[in-house]
Amino acid sequence: MNSSALDPEIRDVFIEIVGRKNCLSEPEGMADYSHDEFSLRDIGRMPELVLKPRSSFQVAAILEVADRERIPVTPRGGATGLCGGCVPAPGGIVLSLERMNRVLEIDVANQMAVVEAGVTLRQFEEAVEEAGFYFPPHPGEESAMIGGMIATNAGGSRAVKYGVLRNYIRGLEIVTPQGDILDLGGKLIKNSTGYSLLHLMIGSEGTLAIVTKAVIQFLAKPALTRSLVIPFDDLDAAIETVPLLLRNILPIALEFVPRDVIMISADRLRKSWPCSLGETHLMIILDAAGEDEMDRLSQSAAAIALDHGALDIFIADTPKKQADVLDIRSKIYEAIKQDTIEILDVCVPRGQIAAHVKRVRAIAAKYGLWLPTFGHAGDGNVHTHIMKARQENGRIVPVPESEWRGAFDKIREEIYEDGRSRGGVISGEHGIGLVKKKYLSRSLSPEHIGLMRGIKRVFDPNGILNPGKIFD
Ligand SMILES: Cc1cc2nc3c(=O)[nH]c(=O)nc-3n(C[C@H](O)[C@H](O)[C@H](O)COP(=O)(O)OP(=O)(O)OC[C@H]3O[C@@H](n4cnc5c(N)ncnc54)[C@H](O)[C@@H]3O)c2cc1C
Repeated sequence: MNSSALDPEIRDVFIEIVGRKNCLSEPEGMADYSHDEFSLRDIGRMPELVLKPRSSFQVAAILEVADRERIPVTPRGGATGLCGGCVPAPGGIVLSLERMNRVLEIDVANQMAVVEAGVTLRQFEEAVEEAGFYFPPHPGEESAMIGGMIATNAGGSRAVKYGVLRNYIRGLEIVTPQGDILDLGGKLIKNSTGYSLLHLMIGSEGTLAIVTKAVIQFLAKPALTRSLVIPFDDLDAAIETVPLLLRNILPIALEFVPRDVIMISADRLRKSWPCSLGETHLMIILDAAGEDEMDRLSQSAAAIALDHGALDIFIADTPKKQADVLDIRSKIYEAIKQDTIEILDVCVPRGQIAAHVKRVRAIAAKYGLWLPTFGHAGDGNVHTHIMKARQENGRIVPVPESEWRGAFDKIREEIYEDGRSRGGVISGEHGIGLVKKKYLSRSLSPEHIGLMRGIKRVFDPNGILNPGKIFD
């Protein structure tokens, strides 16, 4: 692998492909391309060149040269990733898809869109909504791009009813490291034609090929939505109610949040959360075709919750109240980001959430750090935040680096081990990237990782594409 300085002649070849103004080589311009949203900037690395192609042909031309010259290429979308996936670990080229940002088609008859990889989630949602439809997956940060969301198989809180990115991707255009442009799948609901390379691409974190276009399914818009906030005295009562709720209703989202954390987010946004009772809140978002169905679902949820220890039921039914509740929940990360070292995204069978969270609390007590934990109760995906702070009588007290540095890895180890022992995995939606690769064997057997290495060699024999990610 050539990770030394780029030969000036080769550099000129790349500049010619994308045009000088679409190429960055100065440190000031490239600094933004050296990291993603993972908080510790010491994992960052400056690339030698940032290229911003406008077409699949330009991507193919770049990869052909990079492969021949053994130059590492790191694809990059919105850089909202949380595990260093788009950090150019060995230097080389950052291939930013930001200029490939066209919504090419909204095909109403097939309920599918054709978009370039650099379209953002916000842009995509707007295009789909403008056509009167609905795209359910919603990873919290709307500047994420379609290519990055596909590469991480992004999820979000609506997965409990509507699934994750994988469930919506029907076709892909990819560019292989050798510079071949391939179409996988298409505007098809069913496809049993050979190995599904399409699904192999989803979640491959830019290590096998570059995604340049996608065919994405969208759905009819639900007629009505309503949010319920249900406080409980303790976590156990809240979590134990989840399987009972799911036996009777299938909500869009079913989240658990500690009251203290949600209040920090509400205060920061100067918005009001509907209730201040209890310790743990369930947030349920329902959708329905009409008022009768909505009332039946809400009443059923309320009756089950009140039977199992809920302190009250709060309903947000106007668009404004619902938007506020969702905004406060979605922006928790922003509210505590300053003191966050890492957001974990362990996924356990949902019947194990309460036990897993209790173990996290014990680990927090053992190391004297605040580990606020909340997440997608409906699908088992638990977000523990490892903080450089502790809580003292409700106050957040920063902890010096000399104290948290030593504890950080041990905390991760213990949480991952607990997740594994409960049949869980180390990542439910963020991916492995750079940060979690040393823990991959906690979730996958050596044989499984061996097959993955073999697949990587088939696609990328010279190892130029996003080297150092997922595994070494
Ligand atoms: C506040 C906040 C909330 C979040 N909430 C959620 C959530 O609820 N659910 C969730 O799943 N995630 C969440 N995330 C994480 C992040 O938004 C997702 O991982 C998202 O899918 C990353 O998309 P991106 O375009 O930013 O990708 P990047 O960060 O740019 O890249 C991610 C990975 O994809 C690869 N990649 C990017 N583009 C391409 C391409 N065109 N072809 C091949 N590989 C490519 C990169 O090399 C890298 O490995 C959140 C992040 C933040 C900051």
